[in-house]
Amino acid sequence: MRTDAAAAIIDGKAIAARLREEMAGEARRLAERLGRPPGLAVIRVGDDPASEVYVRNKRRAAEKAGVRSWEYHMPADTPREALLDKIAELNADGAVDGILVQLPLPGHLDEDEVVAAVSPEKDVDGFHAHNVGRLWQGRPGLVPCTPLGVMRLLEEIGVDPAGKRAVVLGRSQIVGHPMAALLLNAPATVTICHSRTKNLPAVSREADILVAAVGRPRFVQRDWVKPGAVVIDVGINRLEDGSLAGDVDFDAVRSVAGYITPVPGGVGPMTIAMLLANTLQAAAARARA
Ligand code: NAP
Repeated sequence: MRTDAAAAIIDGKAIAARLREEMAGEARRLAERLGRPPGLAVIRVGDDPASEVYVRNKRRAAEKAGVRSWEYHMPADTPREALLDKIAELNADGAVDGILVQLPLPGHLDEDEVVAAVSPEKDVDGFHAHNVGRLWQGRPGLVPCTPLGVMRLLEEIGVDPAGKRAVVLGRSQIVGHPMAALLLNAPATVTICHSRTKNLPAVSREADILVAAVGRPRFVQRDWVKPGAVVIDVGINRLEDGSLAGDVDFDAVRSVAGYITPVPGGVGPMTIAMLLANTLQAAAARARA
């Protein structure tokens, strides 16, 4: 652990860019083995503007890495059956290695049912119960992209979680839960905190590795952080002036942490890189089959 004056800033943007270049090479090798490029199908239902931007960025990154991508944009009033039929069609499509259904879905659609309809082998978001179960069993599978990106950042800065105290703030299915499972498998000693946790600052202060995924701007304060700790900020919060802030009070915490991720430019870029990694993992498994 570092304990000198200011934390080292973890440049997720640069790390993600390098990984994406490496993956382009891997995609080329896989294309030779498969006789076609690895393929990622994205389904977007409705016209949520944020979803439109996310999907555009994911597809752009895929194409740049030599992963073929398709987008199926369905109207907001798409009936349940039509969406499930589209997923079934993509499950059976030999050119598609990964399927992603962009969330959130319009209210009349049951997200759990939709996630369960994606074939676990093509579930590049890692949300299917099959993959969630494998993760908690410590067995290989497809893992949610954001926490996978956090683990990759730790690896990049040479921090081995084994035996360390890790505290995860947040217990959502897309970040907190899988983050805790990955750290436990690493194997760190893990505490998961949430809105009912008592004395959050004291619990957070125990962490050698503190992951904030709460969705509250600048929530984590300087005195919540053990000197030298690794602070990973997953939060992306849009402020009234339009700027972005993480879940950590970056300027204050920076003076006490050993390492810290900025927002933007920390965990965010890693999420897309890990989506590509998952797509290549799914394609490689099919190349072996
Ligand atoms: P979420 O589903 O809203 O979950 C937030 C979690 O934080 C919940 O478990 C909640 O506890 C907990 N929490 C809320 N207020 C709290 C408080 N005052 N004290 C302690 N715990 C509290 O959010 P999410 O989807 O996990 O996302 C979290 C943040 O990460 C958001 O800012 C989101 O935009 C960002 N995010 C970033 C990426 C990326 O690529 N970088 C990806 C996904 C999400 P309860 O369960 O008890 O309610």
